[in-house]
This record gives sequence, C-alpha cells and structure tokens, in this order.
Amino acid sequence: MKITDLEVIYLKLPQIDITRCDGTQDTTIVRIHTDEGISGVGEIDSLPVVMKSIIDAPASHSIANGLKELLIGEDPFEIERIWNKLYMGALYYGRTGPVLHAMSGIDIALWDIIGKAIQRPVAQMLGGIYHEKIKAYASLVMPETIKEAVQLAEKYMAQGYRAIKFGWGPIGRDAKFDIELVSTLRSVMGEDRDLMLDIGHVWDAKHAIRMARQFEQYGVFWIEEPLPPDDLQGYAQLCDAVDIYIAAGEQESGRRAYQRLLDEAHLDILQPDLGRCGGLTEGKKIAYMAYDRNKKVVPHAFKTGVLVAASTHFVASMPHGFLIEYTVSDSPLARHLVIDPVEFRDGYVHLSRKPGLGIEIDQKTVELYRVK
Ligand code: MG
Repeated sequence: MKITDLEVIYLKLPQIDITRCDGTQDTTIVRIHTDEGISGVGEIDSLPVVMKSIIDAPASHSIANGLKELLIGEDPFEIERIWNKLYMGALYYGRTGPVLHAMSGIDIALWDIIGKAIQRPVAQMLGGIYHEKIKAYASLVMPETIKEAVQLAEKYMAQGYRAIKFGWGPIGRDAKFDIELVSTLRSVMGEDRDLMLDIGHVWDAKHAIRMARQFEQYGVFWIEEPLPPDDLQGYAQLCDAVDIYIAAGEQESGRRAYQRLLDEAHLDILQPDLGRCGGLTEGKKIAYMAYDRNKKVVPHAFKTGVLVAASTHFVASMPHGFLIEYTVSDSPLARHLVIDPVEFRDGYVHLSRKPGLGIEIDQKTVELYRVK
C-alpha cells in the first residue's frame, strides 16, 4: 500500500469569537489517500493556516521539509518509521510545537487507514482493548455567572454525565468567586459526581496551594493548569504540597515535554491532546511513561468527533485509562462533522468495533464550512 495524496481541510464557522477559549469554532482535518482506495482521517488542534503551510510547504533542504512531500509514496503500515521520517525531515523548524501538531493529524489518519485495511478497530492495534466503555466528563467553558454554571451542570447531569469540568472565563480571577462556585456546584452535583476546574494558567504556586487546600474540602477531583505551562518549579511546589490532583499537559507536544511534566513538575495527571502531542503513536509512549510512574492520563480533546474517536480508542487501549474529555459544545463542527460519532450513553462513551477510528466525515458539513 502506498500513500498517494494528503488533503488539509480548514473548517471555520462564519463567525468566531477569538476572545473565547473554544477550539470548536474552527478545525484542521487531515485526509490521507492510498493507492488501494482506502482513506484515513485525522484532526489537529492548532492554528489551521500554519498547519496547512507546514504540511504543504515545498522543501528547503534535507532537514527543512514540508510534511506532505515526505509522506507521499510511503506505506502507512510503517507508522513508526514514518513518524521518525517526518520528525527528522522537519528537524530544523520542528522538534516540538506546530510541526508535532501537524504530525498528530497525519498520524491519526494513518492509524485509521491501517485499521480499515485490516478491518480492526484502532484501539486493538494500539495494543489491545482494556475498556469497552469509558466515563466521559462534560467539558464546559465557564459562563460569566455562577447561576448560569448551575443551569449548565443541571442540564448535563440530566443527560447522564457523572463528571463535569468548568474552565476558563471568569475562573481564577477572584478567590471568593472561585470558592463560591465550587461550593455551589458541589451542593448541586451531589457527592458522587466528579467536579473539575480548569484555571487557565492564571495563578502562581502559592495562590494555587491556598486555593487547592480550600477546594479539597469540596472534593474537587482535579485542578487543571493553575500555573503557566513553563512554571515547572511552581508545579512541583504545588503538587508536593497538596493532596488534590493537579492536571496539565494540553500545551505540550512530544514525549520529552511530558517526561519533564512527570519528573520535574511532579504532575498527577497528564493531558496530552492526540491532535497536538504527536498523535496516537507518540500518545502511547506518553501514556506508558505515566503508567510506569503510576500517574494518570486523561487526554485533552476540545474539537470535533474525529478527535473524540481518536481519544476513545486511545483511552480504551490504555491499562490505566479511566476518563475522557468530552466537549459538549453545540458548534456544528463539534456536532455534525462526523456522521456516526462515538456513542455517548449514561455518562460513558462506548468504543466502536468498526474498522479504524470507526467514523465517517459528513461531506456536506465540510463543504459548508471549508475555507478555500
Ligand atoms: Mg484545559
């Protein structure tokens, strides 16, 4: 089997609010075609126009290549060698960040192709299926008021969610507001549901320690990205001082960054995004690095049904997989890009046994939102 073509599809809602931290307003889809008529799909969470450039760029020299040229003619089954070829072929401007993001979408699409070719689900090919169903937490952008947050929590509990995360917006600006939010949500959600807060990296270590000690009384399951992603010392100080789980990692790409998060920042929960960290191939290495240290992994995912499918196969194939982020955004890209999305029922996503990622893209949605 040989790769014959690679399409980068930039999708964008007609109107987007760039002040809002909501990645479902646009996306980058990668579609890879082969000479055997099998195509695979992947997704990237990054800046779409930059992704298009990194993939489509003509080569400058032997270690400064566009990714598409490196990929054409390769056999998708040689996925580790391809990953390394792209990494080395883009070494002069890559190694982390945007090049790894672009490689992530390509890698997911290659796993989809392999699965379709041998008629097996991606989770099985990643090493085996540990979990047929995985708890999914409703991931919500925090509205301006606590009252609105309560209404959202009630809405998603009614839909069966057993875990809810609020993030960004007004969270982290004011200690009193944060405590009132947590205490109100806990009383509304009861004792048995998981509550998480995504702080949006606006605190310093000492403030985070004070807040974590108060959140502990309300059984907050994790605090996410309380500190700037580069404050590894601050994270270590925080993680060593409190009992509450500290989660981070959506900003990172490449396994070495996650090694630092484990060994230097002492994080409890890693959140690699499979559309950013280097794809499923790199994600598996990150997951086992955490597993070996008895640390948790819950993939970040705030895009469309393509990333939801990749994340579901990923968590299903991890021995320590237990939870998945599930955006409840009503963006048409999040809801309608995939015709047959991963099934959500009673608070859990259910792994599809269909070949590859088990999903199909709705061409009508693509045509409606495609940026030419
Ligand atoms: Mg986050």
